[in-house]
Amino acid sequence: MKTLKIAIQKSGRLNEKSVEILKNCGLSFENYKSSLITSVNNFPLEILFLRDDDIPEYVQDGIADLGIVGENVIVEAGAQVTYLQKLGFGKCTLKIAVPNQSNIDSIQQLEGLAIATSYPVILEKFMNDNDVKNVQIRTISGSVEIGPGLGLSDAICDIVSTGGTLKSNGLKPFAEVMKSEAVLIGKEGSELIPEVQELLQRIRSVMRAKETKYVVLNVAKKDLENVVNLLPGVKSPTVVPLHEEGWVAVHSVIAEQDFWEKINLLKAAGAEGIVVMPIEKIIT
Ligand code: ATP
Ligand code: ZN
Repeated sequence: MKTLKIAIQKSGRLNEKSVEILKNCGLSFENYKSSLITSVNNFPLEILFLRDDDIPEYVQDGIADLGIVGENVIVEAGAQVTYLQKLGFGKCTLKIAVPNQSNIDSIQQLEGLAIATSYPVILEKFMNDNDVKNVQIRTISGSVEIGPGLGLSDAICDIVSTGGTLKSNGLKPFAEVMKSEAVLIGKEGSELIPEVQELLQRIRSVMRAKETKYVVLNVAKKDLENVVNLLPGVKSPTVVPLHEEGWVAVHSVIAEQDFWEKINLLKAAGAEGIVVMPIEKIIT
């Protein structure tokens, strides 16, 4: 069996969640902070710990078969890789921001101005797509938000998640360049490798489980139809009799996103003693 290699971030914002998703897939490995490579004991896989910027090219060139990295980094690198699965973490947005006192509020007004960024490739394409010419892109590798304060640029283009860093530097965002999240990428053609398909199936079942909760509740038989109508279940809800005559327990799953709305509707429909539990995996 071929031993695959997957590249993940060594330390930083994506490291912990990348390790977590692999562990949740049932992969057993030592995660020493000092090592650059570790072997998975129960799957033909080695894990390489790298700087996130290096991951797209390592995957493109086949040094790693798979990688977990932010879309912003993949697009900036211009790497030829296959997107296998968006992973739902590391969410952020690349935005253009200007000083609070600036009256710039449209992309067109950036014509002829200087913008500091660590994402020159993405920014240049965005400006071309919006037909804004003569923008001077000043590429700096970190602390882009201090650009306007230092007189280096009129605006910045940087990653924003909560907006706190912009605010504390007296900047306000006004245009969205791209949204990003962590993705599992593969070398072109890697989706045909059976071990990759197996891993992908496990990742998807872990992700599906995360998005849903297991619910158990009691309901009087007379209210059962109303309650069941609110619950989809994987196929349909399980209904089991309670010891007390005229009552049943209903087992089902509900989507995390409509959790509170559903719980309130279930209570109104006659559900009692509602217990909600996390689900580890859903295999369909
Ligand atoms: P490395 O040492 O691996 O080069 P880094 O400093 O370039 O790390 P991090 O700051 O750890 O990178 O961010 C990694 C990725 O996390 C980003 O490329 C982006 O996709 C995502 N991310 C999510 N939220 C944020 C945020 N608020 N700021 C920056 N990146 C974020
Ligand atoms: Zn980096």
